[in-house]
Formats: sequence, C-alpha cells, structure tokens
Amino acid sequence: MDIRIEKTTNPKQKPADETKLGFGHIFTDHMFIMDYDEGQGWHDARIVPYGPVELMPSAMVLHYGQEIFEGLKAYRTPTGDIQFFRPEENFKRMNVSAERLVIPKIDEKDALQALHTLVEVDKDWVPHIDGASLYIRPFIFATDPFLGVRPGDHYYFMIIMSPSGAYYSTGINPVNIYVETNYVRAVRGGMGFTKTGGNYAASLAGQDEAHKQNYSQVLWLDGVERKYIEEVGAMNIMFVIDGEVVTPSLQGSILSGITRKSALELCRKWGLKVSERRITIQEVADAYDAGKLDEVFGTGTAAVVSPVGHLKWGDKVMEIGGGKIGAITQRLYDTMTGMQYGKIPDDMGWIEKL
Ligand SMILES: *Cc1c(COP(=O)(O)O)cnc(C)c1O
Repeated sequence: MDIRIEKTTNPKQKPADETKLGFGHIFTDHMFIMDYDEGQGWHDARIVPYGPVELMPSAMVLHYGQEIFEGLKAYRTPTGDIQFFRPEENFKRMNVSAERLVIPKIDEKDALQALHTLVEVDKDWVPHIDGASLYIRPFIFATDPFLGVRPGDHYYFMIIMSPSGAYYSTGINPVNIYVETNYVRAVRGGMGFTKTGGNYAASLAGQDEAHKQNYSQVLWLDGVERKYIEEVGAMNIMFVIDGEVVTPSLQGSILSGITRKSALELCRKWGLKVSERRITIQEVADAYDAGKLDEVFGTGTAAVVSPVGHLKWGDKVMEIGGGKIGAITQRLYDTMTGMQYGKIPDDMGWIEKL
C-alpha cells in the first residue's frame, strides 16, 4: 500500500513531564487516514498533521453509531527501541467488529503498515519513563451525509495516538468493583463481542451509579438471567477459585480481549488449571464465603492486569485476598509488562519491533 506522508510544519511541544501525562488528553503531531467509497474500496492512505476532520452534520455515524475501534500501545524499551504487543490481533479483531456492524473490512497487512509508518513518523512521542506508553487508537466510521438507516457507502479509517502515563504510578493497586444488577451492557446476538462506541454508551449509566457509590468500575452480568458474570467496563475478568483460574467463556456478549487470551496462554504454560466457562456471581460469593476465592483480577490493554480489592454485589462487599495482590495476578502483570517493555525475553512470539 502506498502511504502519502505530509509532515506538519508546526510540530507541537512534547510533554515536558512524562509523570503527568494522564490518559487520552494529548495527541501526537500526525494521524493516519484512508477513505472508503463504495465501488472503489479503501484508497488514498495518507499520514497528515493531526487535526479536525470535515463531516456533514448528517454524517451517518452521528445518528446511527456505525463505528468500530481498537486500542493498543507502543512501548519503549530500556535501549530505546520501540515495540508492539500482538498488534496483528487488534486488526484481526477489528475485522470481526467490522463484519458485525456491516463495515467494509480492512486489509490487516495494510493496517499494520499504516501503524508502523505512523509510529515511525511520530516515534519521538513514545514516552521514555517506565510504565508510560504511546496509546494508539485505530477507528472506522460511516461518513455518508444521509439520514436513512442502512450501512454506509463511505467511511474513514483513521489512527490517532496519545502519549499516556503509567496506569499505576506507584506499583499495581487494587481497584474496587461494583456488580451492576439493574442495567445491562450487551446480550448474545447483540454487539457485545465487538469494540464499538455503542457498547460504551450503554455502559455509562451503570458506570455513573458505580462512581456515586465510590466504586471505580462496573462488573456486568448477563442480560438475560442477570446471574452469569460477563466482564468489567474495558477489562475481562478472572477469578482464582481454590487454585483454579476461571474466566467467563466467549459466548458473543463479551469482548475477546488480547490480554485475556495472553493471560490464559501464560497460565496454561505455567501448568495452572484454567477453565473458560459460565460462572455465576453466586458461585463467586459462595467461594468467598468458603474462603476459596483466592484472587480476582481484570485484564485489558490499559492496565494489563488489575487486581480487584473489593467486589460489591448488592449489600455484600467482598474483600479479596485481604487487600493484597495475589501471586498469579502479580506474576501475570510482571510477565506481560516485562515483555512489553523489553525487560524480559519474549518466549511467546508476542513482541513486534517497530
Ligand atoms: C478493549 C476491551 C477489553 C480488553 O481487551 P484487550 O484486547 O485486552 O485490551 C475488554 N472489554 C471491553 C469491553 C473492551 O472494549
């Protein structure tokens, strides 16, 4: 694929203090954009200065939400190299999302080329301090100026990038999670397995309720019986019950996380007992009461592995692992972040160098 590159004549000042990056506020100098027009396919791949895109107020995405996205990171190693963690998995999943939302698929090789070229152009924006990274957001949306309900004939595929701070600045810290019993996020047959804005829109009211009760994230239950565990906002969830790692199976309503898949592969390699199956919140509460709920953690690109400190279900508040981080949680965190930042060898073939 040919990518035209138009560099900015007005580069921005890079953040001086990388300990204060936060998440998703600052954007690099350039972005990738490519058009899709029915009959012509994807065309005009280009890297241009980061800035507004022109859209008609009637653009279909603004009315019916035909949009998908991905999230991944570029990491800087101690020797200054830049690398990615399983980036091909992101574009594979993007095409799974595309199919569900009737968005034209992208060529995964072209998307990887776009990723590498854009990061190369803006490589000085990849943070240097430990734990910080360059967050990368690929996304596709329908641009047709039309108010009828149908799949679009015109799309943009874009990639924007944001230097982001360490998720945990003082080592990994447990998060407190609230089990949502009123709202649901997704149902089988819906879009729960895709990365699309609509799933997040559906999650905001529950998230709001959790915040009001001083919990940072929501654990979703299945939309039909409200008893099977699904996932947390932007993380998959895992339990260690009596030594066994248990996580909800992929049945169409939860996202197939790349961190989830990697964590399961590592646990199996380490010889742990692992099962992907349906698990009810009652089973978790019973394990807790029996003293067999050893660990609970979330998995996702943002925090990699997030230990859960407290889990609130109705009036029941479960304190997990006495507020301490479990051994499996810590080992997964150390192994995955170690590979990502080039501090331990990648014996899984997961790292791709820029
Ligand atoms: C992105 C996301 C995850 C985590 O996926 P990773 O590939 O591990 O980053 C989990 N759940 C939802 C709803 C997500 O959008």
